[in-house]
Order: sequence, then C-alpha cells, then structure tokens
Amino acid sequence: MKVVKHRLHQIDPILYPLNDDGLPGITVIIHGAGWDQAFASRPDIDDYCCWISRAQLPGRVYLLSWRSGFHSLNPLIRVRNFDRIEENAHRLGKDLKKILSALPSPRSPKIRLIGHSLGAHVITTALLNDDWTNFNLSDVILMGAAIGEDDYENCKPKQFWRRCISQVRRKILNCYSAYAQPLWLRSALRRDQFDCIGRAKGSHVSSRIRNISFTGTLSDRGDHDYFSSFDRVMNRVYPTSKRSSDYQVQAICKCPSCDETAMVNANCDDECPWCNITFEYRTSTQSPYWTYEPQEIWCPRCGKETIVVQAPGQEQCLRCRAKIDFDRRGSHVMYYD
Ligand SMILES: [Zn+2]
Ligand SMILES: [Zn+2]
Repeated sequence: MKVVKHRLHQIDPILYPLNDDGLPGITVIIHGAGWDQAFASRPDIDDYCCWISRAQLPGRVYLLSWRSGFHSLNPLIRVRNFDRIEENAHRLGKDLKKILSALPSPRSPKIRLIGHSLGAHVITTALLNDDWTNFNLSDVILMGAAIGEDDYENCKPKQFWRRCISQVRRKILNCYSAYAQPLWLRSALRRDQFDCIGRAKGSHVSSRIRNISFTGTLSDRGDHDYFSSFDRVMNRVYPTSKRSSDYQVQAICKCPSCDETAMVNANCDDECPWCNITFEYRTSTQSPYWTYEPQEIWCPRCGKETIVVQAPGQEQCLRCRAKIDFDRRGSHVMYYD
C-alpha cells in the first residue's frame, strides 16, 4: 500500500497503512497529543503499530499520524503549547474529509473512524464542519475524547450530538473514564462548566449513541491510555466481531540474547535484527521464548572464531569459511566433520 501524504503547515498529517487483509472496510485511527514529545514533533508510530496490531482489525487499517507533541518543562509554556496543538487538531478536523478522499476508493466501503483524546476532537470537528453523507461512515469510536459538548460555537450539547450522529450511518461509541486525569486538567485550567466527553456519558440519549465506561480499568495512572489496552477496548466495543488472521501482531521487546530493543512479529518465530537469533515473543505472557537456546562455540575447524548455533542446520565460520552441520540435544551442540 502507498503512503498518502498531505502537507498542512506544522500538522503534517500522514496516513500510514498498517494492514490490508483484503477484506472490505476501512479503519482510520487518529492518535492524540504527545505528552512527552517536543512541541510539534511526531509521536513514534512504531508504538501505535504494535498496540493497534494486537486487536487484529479486519479490512484496511490506517494510522493518521500528525505532529501533536506539546511537551515543555515550563508548565506555562506547556499550557500554551497545548492550546496551539488543540488548534491544530481543529484544523486537521476541517481537513479530514479531504485527507481521507486521497485513500484508494474511499466512498464505497464502510469507513470506521477511531480517535483518541485530541484525535477524537479531530473527528468531532470533521463531523460538524463537513457533509459526510456521500461517504459510507459506519461507526465513530471516541476514546477519551478531549472535547466538551459545548465547546463548539453556536452549538448546544443536544445539537452537537444530533449533528454528529446525522453524519454517521451506524453508531457513535463514546468510550469514557470518569477518572481521566488529563481531561480533568483541561477542563480545570479553563474553568469549564462542562466536562470533556471522554469523562462521562454523553448528555444526549439516542439509540445510536453508545456510552462505554472504562472508568478505573485503563493501564495508566491517569486512566486515559486507551492505546496500550487497545485490544481490550476493541473487545468491549465489538464483543462479537472476528479477528483478522492475516493481521500480523507486532511487538517492541528486548531480545533475550543480545538485550537490544527490537520490533518483531509476535506470537511466531522471528529473528532479532541485531543478532539474528530466533525467538518467539508471546503477547499473552509478554515474554520471549525459544526452542533452542543459542550456544556460542569455537569453530571446530580453525578454533580461532566463535560460531553461534541455534536450530540444527548448517552454519559458516566467518574466519575460515568452513561450512559445518550442527545438531542439537538440549543445550548440547554437536557437529559432523
Ligand atoms: Zn538480539
Ligand atoms: Zn573457522
């Protein structure tokens, strides 16, 4: 799949294709603000790739990455940075339809939008500012939305929900946590009367708006990190949906042999890119496993170079170039000469 690029000053949105298993439907996931990233820098997409892969969503899956960092050691600058990033989220929302129009055949397949925190703000702005009825926008999933129901000018909470839902063919799923600390901070700093959507049930009742509480169940102290629990979040949102077996789960972990950090295919044998040792990282236990523990032995021919032997098979000495067939019995390495 081709990376679709759009240049918007400072926001610099890029649609990264994460997977395509050939099944119908498109999912676009938009991340939120980068807490520990320098101002206007781009959060690392490898982390998102790994977290999102664990849910194995079918169809085409994209990550909309943008420059959302707002960190500063000075709290006053941090607040000002956040305001600017929030403005950028708003501008990105106004451009979202144009950005998604660049996807191959965007109008006919079902599109699902998932936004976390400021990424959810991007989506609500997009729904309020554009007519999406010529798109097949099926579901919108807001995860800890960093936007209030009365934040948009000339739009009361009831109108806000009605206008959003009128753009969506199926449902809006509002995932919230009453403990979400970062969202509390946002409202407190502005002395907002209303809380963020991501902290409570939506005030407007409709059969097409579903509120799902994650209060006290997310993995971080601020109860706002939906990505590192993305698999579990999607299981709650779609309890009966099937996983895509053609979506390779990925993980960032430490190689058990060389201790370097690497991104590997999880739940199957993969090679460490640093030391070429084969191991399987299992997401269920979050630990690496291997069938044969690597053993480093002296080359039986020249005796001047070591060879790392793992599975039975042929290895070559890098010094004398001898090719030697090895066999394994437990931790023992045997060779035929
Ligand atoms: Zn390694
Ligand atoms: Zn040798």
